[in-house]
Amino acid sequence: MSRVLSERSIEHVVLERGEVANSWRRERWDSLRLLTPNWLSRLPGYAYAGSDPDGFMNLPEVVNFIASFAAETSAPVRTHAAVTSVRSIEGGYEVATEQGEIHCRCLVIASGANNTPRVPDLHRGVPQSVHCLTTFSYRNPDTLPAGGVLIVGAAATGLQLADEIHRSGRPVTLCVGEHVRLPRSYRGRDILWWMEKSGVWNQRYDQIEDLERARRLPSPQLVGTPEHATLGLNTLSRAGVEIVGKLAAVRDGRALFSGGLANQLALADLKMERLLDTFDAWARESHIDSEVGPVERFEPTQVAPSTRLSLDLRSGAIRTIVWATGYRPDYRWLNVPVFTHKGELRHDGGVVSEAPGMYVLGLPVLRRRKSTFINGAEADARDLAKHLAGYLAGASAGV
Ligand SMILES: Cc1cc2nc3c(=O)[nH]c(=O)nc-3n(C[C@H](O)[C@H](O)[C@H](O)COP(=O)(O)OP(=O)(O)OC[C@H]3O[C@@H](n4cnc5c(N)ncnc54)[C@H](O)[C@@H]3O)c2cc1C
Repeated sequence: MSRVLSERSIEHVVLERGEVANSWRRERWDSLRLLTPNWLSRLPGYAYAGSDPDGFMNLPEVVNFIASFAAETSAPVRTHAAVTSVRSIEGGYEVATEQGEIHCRCLVIASGANNTPRVPDLHRGVPQSVHCLTTFSYRNPDTLPAGGVLIVGAAATGLQLADEIHRSGRPVTLCVGEHVRLPRSYRGRDILWWMEKSGVWNQRYDQIEDLERARRLPSPQLVGTPEHATLGLNTLSRAGVEIVGKLAAVRDGRALFSGGLANQLALADLKMERLLDTFDAWARESHIDSEVGPVERFEPTQVAPSTRLSLDLRSGAIRTIVWATGYRPDYRWLNVPVFTHKGELRHDGGVVSEAPGMYVLGLPVLRRRKSTFINGAEADARDLAKHLAGYLAGASAGV
């Protein structure tokens, strides 16, 4: 957003509570690599320029990528300037920061969608003897006690941690609810190549049938590895990870799992097939069938015919629980009445209509399917900057 505001000569400042790329420096586990290939890491006027466009950045590379962008664009960033409060005032906003107060006419909230882990209330029933951590506090398997690990959540994070922790020699049980299955590669191309080229990633928020649902979908079961491996439930199950249904309750020290696992697996398989059908139809219509590999279909997800429905958390078999149940934003500093009864920021594609001059950027499916990812920021920022420039022009013209 800073870059596109600069292009429009709109004076602005970027307030950051830590350092540039703070979330990548402080809030991720050690082995994380992006699940988006390098060629997809694009910011306004800036793209990956290394020798491995099909590879996946590790954490230091992501930090370097974003920090270099900030330096190259001379972004006016004030670091260590946490915003502690925002209030509406006549003609704009009063922003209190650790470094003093600022008055502004427009405010763009770009504080991230993933500020705190989302942990279900049922965590309260977990016996004290079990060590619990979230994907914010997890760094690597060496920091875990020896013994079994229960991972709750089977989106990208849950699967990646299940794989890593299982490889460390600990028995792993993975709770699987609704999930999004994807192969890493399809017909010889990365799956995100298909997403982008076919236009699926670019689909606008106002054309998505069930937008609320799309915004809540778990991240796709993808991992970025040098081998371009597919990491799915079949891979994990074959390696010895125990797959169980969604964690439904913790009662009297027992974890109770949903019996609907088979349905969840079948549904995810079906949705993947439909998406691949969409890609095949697009390839046919675009006459590129000869440029990609032959049509592929993947084996259904298979786990043990009868999976465990409960597990005694007091038995000592499980020493650690990792809550890989997603993230949510933290707006405790925003003292403007723009929230739904669930505490979510009310906006229309990033325009916070109830608070003139206020915008939000960087939320899942904000304006397009790709808004969830780094790659989506540019198009969204351009749209919102256009709106913001119009607002400023109208405001100064007294409209
Ligand atoms: C585990 C994980 C893996 C991901 N993997 C990928 C991937 O492979 N590829 C991909 O494209 N996307 C990935 N994403 C999504 C990606 O993180 C986001 O698309 C991207 O970070 C959005 O950038 P952002 O600047 O909006 O938010 P963030 O990167 O979260 O940045 C928000 C910034 O705001 C600062 N901030 C927050 N509150 C305040 C405050 N009160 N005052 C001042 N500063 C504040 C934070 O310190 C932070 O630096 C992943 C996300 C997670 C959680």
